[in-house]
Amino acid sequence: MKTHEHALISLGYGACVSLLLGGGLVGHPDVYLAAVLGGECIDFIDHPLYHLVYQRSEEHVAAAWQVLKEKGPAAWVHYLGRVEDGRQFKGLILHNIYALIALVMLIVVLFIAVPGEVCTLTFFTATLVHMLTDIQGDLRILGHINNWLWVLPGGVRLPNLQSPTGPLSLPDVQKIFREGFKGFLPHNCRAKNRNFTLFPLWP
Ligand SMILES: [Zn+2]
Repeated sequence: MKTHEHALISLGYGACVSLLLGGGLVGHPDVYLAAVLGGECIDFIDHPLYHLVYQRSEEHVAAAWQVLKEKGPAAWVHYLGRVEDGRQFKGLILHNIYALIALVMLIVVLFIAVPGEVCTLTFFTATLVHMLTDIQGDLRILGHINNWLWVLPGGVRLPNLQSPTGPLSLPDVQKIFREGFKGFLPHNCRAKNRNFTLFPLWP
């Protein structure tokens, strides 16, 4: 999801928090600020680190630098957007299941320890909203959340939840539950090609 889309969602989230606090839509500008900062910070930390520090030799990163060198900043931004839309940047250190669980635990602790710190809570819950919308985007675009599982040992891969013609239909879901989650074994997953489907729904 693009930066401005996250920002719009964060503003909507800030509006909800503001309304819940009373004082209407404009009563808490600090809450809006916390929501936007919380919703954006994860990408502003993760993506620069990915490109400049720990994934400099990744093929899309290298290609992006090449585009910047040869065609300029506008083409570079366009290229980055295209790669991101296809969810090709994999292995982000803040976009993974451990970071998600750690954030949820932090939010629970904050709710218990400092329930009055509205801006702090809004900041971190907005980061959580960012993660959840990214996950929703992954499911919509890729049909799975494997980009979030790269930290798990054994190369665990979840099934693709999209049929070749689009998202799962209700009969597809019923069939999954009928047939059980057979094949959900990391070893099986690794033995086959990366895009395989665990459930024999679409041979
Ligand atoms: Zn993100």
